[in-house]
Amino acid sequence: DTTLVWLRRDLRLQDNAALYYALKENKSVLPLFIFDSTILDKLEDKADKRVAFIHQSLMQIHEELIKLGSSLLVLHGNPVDIYQKLNPKAVYTNHDYEPYALERDATVSNILSTKAIDFKTYKDQLIFEKDEVLKDDGKPYTIFTPYSRKWKAKLNKFYLKSYPTEKYFSHFKQCEAISIPSLKSLGFEDVEATFPERIIKQSIIEKYDTQRNFPAIVGTTRLSVHLRFGTVSIRKLAQIAVKKNEVWLNELIWRDFYHMILWHFPHIVDKAFKPAYDNIPWRKDEERFALWCEGKTGYPIVDAGMRELNTTGFMHNRVRMIVASFLTKHLLIDWRWGEAYFAKKLLDFDLAANNGGWQWAASSGCDAAPYFRVFNPTLQTQKFDPKFEYIKKWVPEFGTPDYPTPIVDHTFARDRVLKTYKEALAE
Ligand code: FAD
Repeated sequence: DTTLVWLRRDLRLQDNAALYYALKENKSVLPLFIFDSTILDKLEDKADKRVAFIHQSLMQIHEELIKLGSSLLVLHGNPVDIYQKLNPKAVYTNHDYEPYALERDATVSNILSTKAIDFKTYKDQLIFEKDEVLKDDGKPYTIFTPYSRKWKAKLNKFYLKSYPTEKYFSHFKQCEAISIPSLKSLGFEDVEATFPERIIKQSIIEKYDTQRNFPAIVGTTRLSVHLRFGTVSIRKLAQIAVKKNEVWLNELIWRDFYHMILWHFPHIVDKAFKPAYDNIPWRKDEERFALWCEGKTGYPIVDAGMRELNTTGFMHNRVRMIVASFLTKHLLIDWRWGEAYFAKKLLDFDLAANNGGWQWAASSGCDAAPYFRVFNPTLQTQKFDPKFEYIKKWVPEFGTPDYPTPIVDHTFARDRVLKTYKEALAE
């Protein structure tokens, strides 16, 4: 009788909560991954690097399992239909907090319960989830600093402890290797992509507080894609953060924070966290939006960021803030347009963090920049890329006649956004 462990955002065999309990409590455990057709069908780019990343990670897990005399089972289709047909002894999985996932899991849970099959779910992706860190009055925090204080006060060894799955590796189902569908058979192309390495560079973490804001240097860990798909464990990273650098720990707390916000305030998926901000008359300027997407705004730091994103699927955090502020404040274009573009392009795309970042930049978010704070791209460049090293890397024609003139004047844009926001918020 096979017990399934349904992997989703936790593509690893080490320190995995659901896998640990499945192995501990059962004898014939088979990990399962489903390429969800409802998600894949929405991806326009058939050379999507995220799908390739997942595929590559699954191949690695498959190899590890083959060495243990077992296999990974990879299926393609709608999970709800798939669970109609499967009849395992039990299904173990880790929590996924996005609205689509919650609905899907509730349906799967119902289907399994009608067949008297246990569906057991665990916290794995976050240190603290849902209601674990609340204000004294029992309400969720909406401001980061007090949340992070409570988060740190609650933290102890228990929450950082790894799940020693290795102890029970003999409990994997012993079977022939089951073949894994190729990217092609899933309707995707093999892409030549290099992904950020799965290496936790302690030297970067140690210097994080002084180097994190300079996009020309590798001053941040680039672990975001691994955190997104669970190819590294958050507990392992938090253990290091606690020892090495509180500033970096705060970034991991932001990640918990935005997931907690999405859980309590799911309206943020398509609405402003603060409703008044949905009164802003966004400009439906498709032409300038396209120039922003392509990195042709005439603001070199903005263009460098967008070209880094388009080429690599990554953008430095400081530059994400600058380009997002530019789109929403300088061009007065709806943050949802920018959010959707990032969702298409970012390797580390995560609904909670991306929405949080965009609503922060547009000032509509829970703990956002005040609306009158308009980043000045020129001053940001002077501070964070003073020698234009990052800019020159991504915008080789910078400083030549080929480089476009600014698509909007800074002072004009600043006055316009302040006036527009002020009027909209007064309504
Ligand atoms: P490090 O600086 O080394 O930080 C370590 C980890 O902490 C990151 O990998 C990430 O998991 C987490 N983290 C760091 N900053 C944040 C943050 N502000 N919010 C939530 N988690 C954070 N991050 C995503 O993971 N996915 C997104 O889709 C995403 N979209 C963003 C959109 C905008 C407009 C902005 C301003 C930020 C966005 N971020 C997003 C947050 C941040 O930019 C990235 O997490 C970070 O740049 C990833 O680089 P790193 O792995 O080197 O991070």
